[in-house]
Amino acid sequence: MALVVQKFGGTSMGTIDRIKNAAARTIAAHTEGNRVVVIVSAMSGETDRLLRLAREVTAVPDAREMDALAATGEQVASALMAIAIQAQGMRARSFLGHQMKVLTDSAFTKARIKAIDASRVQLALEEGEIVVVAGFQGVDEHGNITTLGRGGSDTSAVAIAAALDADVCEIFTDVDGVYTTDPNICPSAKKIDRISYEEMLELASLGAKVLQIRSVEMAMKYGVPVHVRSSFSSSSGTLVTHEGDLEQVVVTGVAYDKGEARVMLVGVRDQPGVVAEIFTALAAKSVSVDMIIQNVSVDPTGAKGAHTDVTFTVAKSDLARVRDVIDEIGRKVGAVDVRYDEDIVKVSVVGLGMRSHAGVAAKMFSILAEHGINIQAISTSEIKISCLVATKYTELAVRALHEGFQLGNAPADERTPAI
Ligand code: ADP
Ligand code: ASP
Ligand code: MG
Repeated sequence: MALVVQKFGGTSMGTIDRIKNAAARTIAAHTEGNRVVVIVSAMSGETDRLLRLAREVTAVPDAREMDALAATGEQVASALMAIAIQAQGMRARSFLGHQMKVLTDSAFTKARIKAIDASRVQLALEEGEIVVVAGFQGVDEHGNITTLGRGGSDTSAVAIAAALDADVCEIFTDVDGVYTTDPNICPSAKKIDRISYEEMLELASLGAKVLQIRSVEMAMKYGVPVHVRSSFSSSSGTLVTHEGDLEQVVVTGVAYDKGEARVMLVGVRDQPGVVAEIFTALAAKSVSVDMIIQNVSVDPTGAKGAHTDVTFTVAKSDLARVRDVIDEIGRKVGAVDVRYDEDIVKVSVVGLGMRSHAGVAAKMFSILAEHGINIQAISTSEIKISCLVATKYTELAVRALHEGFQLGNAPADERTPAI
């Protein structure tokens, strides 16, 4: 008897009819002879609605209370799912994060799972019940409710699958798998049948929100096979596992992320310790920095190298905190100007094949240039290249790169030929 973990995202839980449809899927898996644990997200739009309510009360609500508030979305959804399963004639029981229990650290709004006690779930499964668990939430060692960051139900599902040693973790969502790029902005995007954890991790961390980054990290660490599927069709989906597609392509996918903002300190003193001072101050406020560029600027007195510009990107959601820190540090390090730009998007190409192929960066820059898209910053790793461009170019850049690297519906052997 296999153990199957199924996760239903917000759209899949968006209406009572959809919850009934999801319930029918869990029952079908149970009837096929599996033990089934279901993780649910809040109904679509609900988490946004709750967070908006708090911000109507005050601009910077307390993080602990934000989590207590946001977690209610999944509480409603898990109870409704259990009721829907029962209404279709099957035994079911719902558990919240603290009932289960999903122990996290105390980093409210972005808590990390430390341990899962699956004994109550095991017991319920042994009694023949379908177990429903509220995703996105946990509890810290002091009994406070925590949440795992936006999209965190994916991580709940994979963590519970790992804790239960499940045979598979099925992620039911509103697309029928992982695509070569977001199918909602690029109509020629092609579904990938099988993708490696490594590539999926890059795609997720570069903005492909179909899986939350931490869920992929965890799946990779514990070897949980993840199957991304549609709630609304019986399509075969995408398997995320150790081995990607055996057919080796150079570029597997294109991702974009509108969640970052660019900060530029102009004309800071070019001497040891200045950059350390800037980033130490940001780290002290728990701000994660993504891209960093430092370039020598021309000194107003004519002496080159005496001053430098420091540019970096941070999450838009951290920008208020960043402004507080940087406005002050900027003065200390002698910046002549500090600029903030939220009107940017990071577009990236990802592929394991880049390790053994030269020229991918050149090709990416050429494609963007041919479309008149100016690159504001670049970062690379072994298997990805990212460029920062103006937001207005998002769709154009994604589609141009997708087409330029031949990721669309061309036959597999014609894709991404030698560069
Ligand atoms: P859920 O509510 O089920 O968790 P999400 O909205 O978090 O769903 O994630 C699914 C969405 O991810 C899709 O609707 C799609 O727009 C987006 N997405 C971005 N990149 C990709 C990609 N490469 N493949 C599939 N979906 C993608
Ligand atoms: N409901 C949460 C969110 O909207 C968690 C999730 O859907 O995975 O981010
Ligand atoms: Mg999601």
